[in-house]
Amino acid sequence: MTTEEKRKIDILKRDRKSVAEIAKELNLSPNTVKSYLQRRKSQNSCLMCGMHVEQNQGRKQKKFCSDKCRGLYWREQHKQSDGMTECVCAACGKKFYAYASKKRKYCSEVCYRRRNG
Ligand SMILES: [Zn+2]
Ligand SMILES: [Zn+2]
Repeated sequence: MTTEEKRKIDILKRDRKSVAEIAKELNLSPNTVKSYLQRRKSQNSCLMCGMHVEQNQGRKQKKFCSDKCRGLYWREQHKQSDGMTECVCAACGKKFYAYASKKRKYCSEVCYRRRNG
């Protein structure tokens, strides 16, 4: 899985999408998404590079292996929110995320075909 894919999973997850929806959107298998989210939940790996992060008991949980990763992560998150925009499917009315530059009208291939079929 690429960093880009992980980032998108985070964003879709934040939007309370289900594992199935995320998998479909990113063309990944549901198992890949699920295991990524599970690993993520344990939060003992760096949110940016996935490296193991040593936790100090009783201290605030660390999310990044280094300040460098922390900086990169927030920059990337910001970039993502600029590039991706919330769209409403012209066929089924469902909300979905797409790159603004792509001007997508439909949430899925199915909806596209339903309208253009
Ligand atoms: Zn890291
Ligand atoms: Zn649709």
